[in-house]
Amino acid sequence: MSYTTDFGLYIDGSWRTGEGRDTHSVINPATGETLAELPLATTADLDEALAATAKGFAQWRAVDVNARAAILHKVADHIRERAETIAVLLTTEQGKPIAEARTEVLSCAAQFDYFAEEAKRSYGRVLVRPKGQRAVVLKQPVGPVAAFSPWNFPVNLMCKKMAAALAAGCSIIAKPPEETPASTSAIMQCVIDGGVPGNVAQLVYGVPDMVSRHLIASPIIRKVSFTGSVPVGKHLLKLAADGVKRTTMELGGHAPVLIFDDCDLEKAISLSATTKFRNAGQVCISPTRFYVQEGVYDRFVAGFAARTKQIQVGNGLDAGTVMGPLANARRPSAIAALVEDATSKGANLLTGGSRGNHGFFFTPTVLSDVPLSAKVMDDEPFGPVALMRPFKTLDEAIEQANRLPFGLAAYAFTENARQANLVADALDTGMVGLNSFVISMPDAPFGGVKESGFGSEGGPEGLDSYYVTKAVHQY
Ligand code: NAD
Repeated sequence: MSYTTDFGLYIDGSWRTGEGRDTHSVINPATGETLAELPLATTADLDEALAATAKGFAQWRAVDVNARAAILHKVADHIRERAETIAVLLTTEQGKPIAEARTEVLSCAAQFDYFAEEAKRSYGRVLVRPKGQRAVVLKQPVGPVAAFSPWNFPVNLMCKKMAAALAAGCSIIAKPPEETPASTSAIMQCVIDGGVPGNVAQLVYGVPDMVSRHLIASPIIRKVSFTGSVPVGKHLLKLAADGVKRTTMELGGHAPVLIFDDCDLEKAISLSATTKFRNAGQVCISPTRFYVQEGVYDRFVAGFAARTKQIQVGNGLDAGTVMGPLANARRPSAIAALVEDATSKGANLLTGGSRGNHGFFFTPTVLSDVPLSAKVMDDEPFGPVALMRPFKTLDEAIEQANRLPFGLAAYAFTENARQANLVADALDTGMVGLNSFVISMPDAPFGGVKESGFGSEGGPEGLDSYYVTKAVHQY
């Protein structure tokens, strides 16, 4: 299987390719080589997509929920059938190891299946009224959606938005990242082949700022969903405010992990060192700030560093690769600067800290005794960097964990159930993992608090974000 350049914009039922449009070079992050040129949408393309999505919405909302569900299950079937091909595309253009790519692709199918069924349970409410009167609260699709998703989980994050929006009866214009068009276009083909009409789900790539300004300014778009960085999220919120549009914002994190003296230390070390370097740390819920209680600090740090040194870094397509390159040229330089700043301020570099001599590699990095003055303690590294600091008391650990403006995910390892409950209650985040890092699945709400955003994706809460309520009173 090899890379395909068979992709483009999908607007109003047809694929659009070059035809004089500006292009973006798609790069293989493992080699630095250019794989293809991706055509970028013009404002005329976007206007066509907007007009189509308005028609698509009118048509799709009228489709019975069972018929919609049947179509979405077919989409899931196509994704499963083509999973291996799509996974190879994903690894080639994004870098993650092929096993991770397979898991990501299959998670897309799971989301289509989940939301197809969950939409059947969007009951609304019946209010208690005097005899002969009725009042009901209906859930109705919010309208056409503009969805912007990033390059770290290109297919999963596009599908989270698309599956929920379509299940709720919305039409959607998706703008996945320009870095990874072959995998997202292959998923789009599954959506088309499953039977979703061409004006109901559309796909555009472009200059992100131009596309988001143009789509969000249109009165046709009623909902904006974005996954990405905090600054871009704030910018899109301002654009959405002009049209009083509903938004879901999944922004950055800087996840703390509290390792208590009474934890199962071997398990904590093993799960932490594996999870930290998944997708080369380019995960918004990646465990990053390890606060370790004094009694186990030295053993945890030594064990974590030893395991980190064993991680095989290489091309994601090679058997045996545990960590691939970073996804784009921006990441290695950003991370190198953060590591240099931390060591210059006194952090110990236990392993890693260097860039590769080709592609966008950066070695798995562990920094211990990182001072709070280091930038990396405040700025999300979004890469293969683990930060270690000791703590004495539960209160101190909570204070440290909650000290940043982010509030996406947090984790704790303790065998004391009471302590686990206290920690879960006190952490200022949208998600908490106790003795585990597995917190993202289709039936669970995924989202943050504080500057990590608001609204959920996943679970009934995620579906709800694509509905508006209507109260109907009958006397
Ligand atoms: P960035 O802030 O420029 O972009 C983040 C994402 O937003 C990208 O997918 C990009 O295409 C998109 N984007 C940028 N400007 C946009 C605009 N005006 N309108 C619509 N979309 C826009 O930075 P980057 O270099 O791509 O990523 C760096 C940082 O982004 C990371 O350090 C991380 O904090 C954050 N990030 C978060 C997630 C996440 O899952 N929450 C994913 C990717 C990146």
